[in-house]
Amino acid sequence: MCRGKRRENEERRQGRNMELNIAGRSSVVVMGLDGATIEKYPMTRIGDSGRLPDPNNNVCSICLSDYQPEDTLRTIPDCNHYFHAQCIDGWLRMNATCPLCRKLPHS
Ligand SMILES: [Zn+2]
Ligand SMILES: [Zn+2]
Repeated sequence: MCRGKRRENEERRQGRNMELNIAGRSSVVVMGLDGATIEKYPMTRIGDSGRLPDPNNNVCSICLSDYQPEDTLRTIPDCNHYFHAQCIDGWLRMNATCPLCRKLPHS
């Protein structure tokens, strides 16, 4: 009797943990943008010359690396800030704001 009750409690606890995990995951999806929206943002590829769309914006604010020739950038249309495509894609999936100015892009 006593043993059976303890097992029941453990099962209930594990079930609750699983629900928490699922709830946490779905709230992340709601916060960020979906892939189709991110894909609509214009991409720019830095050529061999390393020339940037804006010479004053030469460091990615997400990974803090300088932009290199051949890097692919993605621009947020509302504020014209750009970042490495792979950096901003990951960021926008979790946060629907520009990491530089925190402006909320139109979806
Ligand atoms: Zn980056
Ligand atoms: Zn911005």
